[in-house]
Amino acid sequence: MSDIFDLTALELGAAIRQGEVSPTQAARAALDRMEETKENGAFVAVTADRALDRAREIEQQLAAGKCAGPLAGVPMALKDNICTKGVSTTCASKILTGFVPPYDATLVERLGEQGAVCLGKVNMDEFAMGSTTETSYYGPTRNPWDRERVPGGSSGGAAAAVAEGDCWYAVGSDTGGSIRQPAAYCGVTGMKPTYGAVSRYGLIAYASSLDQMGPLARDAADCAAVLDAVMGKDPRDGTSLDVPAGGLLAGLTGDVRGMKIGLPADCFGDGLDPAVRQGVLRAAQTLKARGAELVEFDFPVMQYVIPTYYIIAAAEASSNLSRFDGVKYGWRAQDYEDLTDLYCRTRTQGFGAEVKRRILLGSFVLSAGYYDAYYKKALQVKGLIKKAFDDAFTRCDVMLTPVAPTTAPKLGESLSDPLQMYLSDIYTVSVNLAGLPGLSMPCGFDEKGLPIGCQLIGPPLGEDKVLNAAHAFQLDTDYHKRRPGQGQAEQAEKKEAV
Ligand code: GLN
Repeated sequence: MSDIFDLTALELGAAIRQGEVSPTQAARAALDRMEETKENGAFVAVTADRALDRAREIEQQLAAGKCAGPLAGVPMALKDNICTKGVSTTCASKILTGFVPPYDATLVERLGEQGAVCLGKVNMDEFAMGSTTETSYYGPTRNPWDRERVPGGSSGGAAAAVAEGDCWYAVGSDTGGSIRQPAAYCGVTGMKPTYGAVSRYGLIAYASSLDQMGPLARDAADCAAVLDAVMGKDPRDGTSLDVPAGGLLAGLTGDVRGMKIGLPADCFGDGLDPAVRQGVLRAAQTLKARGAELVEFDFPVMQYVIPTYYIIAAAEASSNLSRFDGVKYGWRAQDYEDLTDLYCRTRTQGFGAEVKRRILLGSFVLSAGYYDAYYKKALQVKGLIKKAFDDAFTRCDVMLTPVAPTTAPKLGESLSDPLQMYLSDIYTVSVNLAGLPGLSMPCGFDEKGLPIGCQLIGPPLGEDKVLNAAHAFQLDTDYHKRRPGQGQAEQAEKKEAV
């Protein structure tokens, strides 16, 4: 058998079922790897003993003929905003230091039923607010392709851990791009499902109407397998949808003949790095060569998506984060005079600058004098954005766009100018505002050898179409198989006209 680090999660799962490698061997290999690569700062908590106990348990279940899922025994990681019973969950914030949830998120339970072996919790921007994983209380995660660069965010730890080979897949959350953009920066495949497809019970809320959890993995097939395990109705989340779980992996045919791929012109205009544009358009040609049809159209709502997203996300965040007051969860300031002072000091000292900025912005747009002008207006524009997507999907089956305007920036470059950083979310936030499924996958490398990502967007519950288009692309390309450090110079793409 080849090196287990070259295997996808599904390939490792198959090797485990065939007895070629045991869950304990896989978990030990991953834990050793994490030790070697720990300077990447991907993990905020490593639960080695629990992982090894769990691996032994799965081994026994497999021996007894139970636990036959395709991912049984495969080591994975969870973003630190996903509640794990008995394991600290901090959202990479000082204010949640010491918080140990008394329950598992529904997603964690469902993956557990499929035999997942969790290695630990991965780093993120504080409360998932950010695009670089630099706002983490624990310090930044580094991009495995170039350690002077960011891995993206906010699920940067998850993307870096998968790219580095620390684990075979990870689960992140995506409110405005936080799975897709780090997946693009780190050269892995990541998917945000349709809003409601995966229960949010146990995901610590940032903006409840936009948040979704989803996988970051080596390829589309691995993402399909994870989604098969976690999708579906959950009585504990009233917004979860009654969709049949399973079937996505089985539906991956790679046949895209006749599939209409929409290219919205407004996603390829000014501000897009030429190497990224070229990579995405080349992906379109690859799909065309497999029989898909390319359809171009204007998509002018793009100009409204950033302000709309940042008003709605900040408004919901300001409300959601009011519960962190030093009384109910985690950390509490030491010296205080009375209850108000306790709240004030805990929140002043416990939250970082970006989180405070969002709380201030959110409280402002929700305040009596400004509610109609900003928040209500943003909700109306959100409706228009949703309608623009509905119209687009009368013309095409899936849309293809960039994930981010550039490849990964250097550490420290983005935080100095938050507005500029917000603008870099332009291609991802609309997908959350419209509640759609979106997938990011590697489609090339720029002249610096950094991965380029492209995004496939589907209609509501069009996960099957999106995953199948991605799978078709990955059957014909090997960008998703390349690993950091393997001759990066040779991986740099020559600029060629599409
Ligand atoms: N970068 C966006 C933000 O800061 C998206 C974050 C996310 O998806 N969690 O809000």
